Amino acid sequence: KHHYDIIIGPNLMTQAALQIERFFQKQGFHQKRLAVITDTNVASLYLDRFRTELTKSKIHIVPVVVEAGEQSKSFSTLQTIIDQILSARLERGDYIISFGGGVVGDLGGFAASIIRRGMNFIQMPTTLLAQIDSSVGGKTGINSRYGKNLIGSFYQPRCVIADTCILDTLPQREFRAGYAEMVKYGLINQPDFFEWLEKNGQEVFHNGSIRTEAIVCSCQFKADIVARDEYETGERALLNLGHTFGHMLETATSYDSSRLIHGEAVAIGMILAHQFSAQLNLIDPALIHRIEAHFKSVGLPTKLKDIPSELPNAKTLMTLLAQDKKISQNNLTFILTRGLGQSFIAKNVSPDSVLTFLEQKLAEI
Ligand code: NAD
Ligand code: ZN
Repeated sequence: KHHYDIIIGPNLMTQAALQIERFFQKQGFHQKRLAVITDTNVASLYLDRFRTELTKSKIHIVPVVVEAGEQSKSFSTLQTIIDQILSARLERGDYIISFGGGVVGDLGGFAASIIRRGMNFIQMPTTLLAQIDSSVGGKTGINSRYGKNLIGSFYQPRCVIADTCILDTLPQREFRAGYAEMVKYGLINQPDFFEWLEKNGQEVFHNGSIRTEAIVCSCQFKADIVARDEYETGERALLNLGHTFGHMLETATSYDSSRLIHGEAVAIGMILAHQFSAQLNLIDPALIHRIEAHFKSVGLPTKLKDIPSELPNAKTLMTLLAQDKKISQNNLTFILTRGLGQSFIAKNVSPDSVLTFLEQKLAEI
């Protein structure tokens, strides 16, 4: 097992530089070289400050700035990153840090895992989603024309440093999307955390101790699941709660200028997963209303009706949904629930029952 520290708190840029300096010192490295992989938005907001801190620690930085956005998770961007790191003559013992959201984290981690068969890697996530989800667990990768995240590796960082103040510049919509994934941990297996968020969720949006506490708890919940199932042979699939319906909606709206962002699609997806569970008589429908009320209180969408773009019919939605899945013997695997924080992996969901459910939902619009 790989152990590493996750450092979470306000104003960590100075501490990050010192931590990286200590890593080099431990290795007895004289020259300290660090590739900083970041995107255009994060670079214009924070790269100068970060560079100043690193320079104080005598760390030579090689900045690698990619275009902001999901389209950078591509072979061509990966190649540019690799070229820049090799041409700067970084060695195996040198470090790569991903300084940005999940896009930069996935890209940088994948580059680190294949350059010189594995360079030292650090995560410095700057979005809420990256701090509570993508920077923990060691999945890295890029997209292929056949689908998202189909090329990649499992590669653990030396450490994760999450500066909670850096989230203050995140657009509200991105923040809310990350918040949906935070609620997800409550709905998977942490009912007390969900109740705590019902009381304190608004405060997560403001910088302070509640935000830090919520991020610490979320990382712990994810780390616990990952520690029990690093390579996703079982339980780790619970993290996909809301994601089967969510990816379906993301894809269905992706050609539209009013498209949903990932966390918004997952919010609606989690509601759909609960509605589907209610239809199978697994839960009391009152639970759905409770979750909906919480999402609404922070401005997240909850219904198909909340989606501005026009949705395709149920059959088309089914093909989008099935693309995402291994259909074995005509059965779908879904994450369903038996109650608040009681999600489970349901392996024998019939595609017909899902189709009927989607038809009903579309009729309600
Ligand atoms: P992102 O990296 O695109 O960041 C969202 C936007 O916020 C970008 O425009 C970015 O430039 C901007 N931004 C980042 N930090 C900022 C800051 N501090 N202030 C202002 N703007 C800032 O998207 P994301 O939501 O962080 O991550 C999504 C990606 O994460 C997807 O590609 C997804 O597949 C991946 N992901 C990976 C895992 C995993 O386990 N590896 C898990 C979940 C998601
Ligand atoms: Zn997600």
